[in-house]
Amino acid sequence: MTTPQHTQTPLPAPTAPTAPATPAPRLPGITRNGRPLTSIPTAAVASTAGAAHPRRPHEGPSVEPRAQRPTPTTPPGHDWTGLAERVLAGTPAGRDDALRILRSHDDDILELMAGAYRIRRRFHGRSVKLNMLINAQSGRCAEDCAYCSQSIYATAPVPEYQLVDEQTIVEGARHAHAQQAGTYCMVMSGRRASRRDVDRIASAARRIREEMPEMKLCACLGLIDDAKAEVLADSGVERFNHNVNTAPRYHDRIVTTHTYRDRVETIESVRRAGISPCSGIICGLGEDDDDLAEVALELRRLEADSVPINFLIPQEGTPLAGRRLLTPLRCLKIVAMFRYLLPGREIRLAGGRELNLGQLQPLALFAANSVFLGDYLTSEGQTMDADRQMIDELGFVVEQDAHAS
Ligand code: SF4
Repeated sequence: MTTPQHTQTPLPAPTAPTAPATPAPRLPGITRNGRPLTSIPTAAVASTAGAAHPRRPHEGPSVEPRAQRPTPTTPPGHDWTGLAERVLAGTPAGRDDALRILRSHDDDILELMAGAYRIRRRFHGRSVKLNMLINAQSGRCAEDCAYCSQSIYATAPVPEYQLVDEQTIVEGARHAHAQQAGTYCMVMSGRRASRRDVDRIASAARRIREEMPEMKLCACLGLIDDAKAEVLADSGVERFNHNVNTAPRYHDRIVTTHTYRDRVETIESVRRAGISPCSGIICGLGEDDDDLAEVALELRRLEADSVPINFLIPQEGTPLAGRRLLTPLRCLKIVAMFRYLLPGREIRLAGGRELNLGQLQPLALFAANSVFLGDYLTSEGQTMDADRQMIDELGFVVEQDAHAS
């Protein structure tokens, strides 16, 4: 029940990592991009790392897409500046605006993004937040999320290991800190973490807080109740990620082993504990425009402070293998729609951004103000140098740099 960077292409097993072209010093269990991902030390890996697991007989979700590639229907020349000004004046964009954005004419893309940037600039200036994660437990998940290679129902070979030790989590934080990541996210596969696992995460969080007090800590541990959320809050975890992933009415097409309501209850527990809720989507699952508008409004209602936008990478071995419904322009319109509807929130470009936005990726930062750096849960993203270069060349500044200047 973790962030949907699970949608990425699996990497080789941790016991046989691919050597980088130019060997660089690495911490144990840290990938090229600095995340403790596939190269978790063998001792920390429970068993069957990287082995393909048999897909269990299971009815599973019905993954027929509701939508094929949509056609723009909003006439060109729409007044996107006017919409942005209206949002900035305090009138929230609504469902009809969302649909107009998603169906906007391709000729309008620069005006649409310029309006999104007006809003972004008001709330976030030119700063970009950097986030890094540790895949602290991988694979063997009994849930049947159709996009996820870590499900036991998927046949994709992914690293499989139980929760890494506390020291590995702390070292991952040191590495993230060295990369100027403002937020370090500790992610576990699985429906929910045990109390023992939550205690280990909390203990690591205390050490990280003491050593790197400026680092914001996020946990992503599946479903959670009030008691466990309070343990995390007491340890200094400030944010908890639990994506709604898709619209309530589309949710059961993607997963059958838990409900949309389960997800919402977790977000509510997190908020009750005083932790900032982080919740976002995976687009490209087969949802239609109404679903996307609905999920944006849902995230507004749920008061998600931070909204990761993931773009499906359809993996072999999952029910969504071969599904390519997104185009780069479509992705831009989705990111813009989230900015118009959630003007002050942290909108983050997350898993699949490289593949799905392609050469348009830098443009998306005119609407989004946050990125996951480098690698995702089970695949490598673009290098951190490339991300840094992209941010610099756009004239944006990493948030810590902005604070320093
Ligand atoms: S299958 Fe398990 S690990 Fe994958 S997204 Fe669903 S809950 Fe998370």
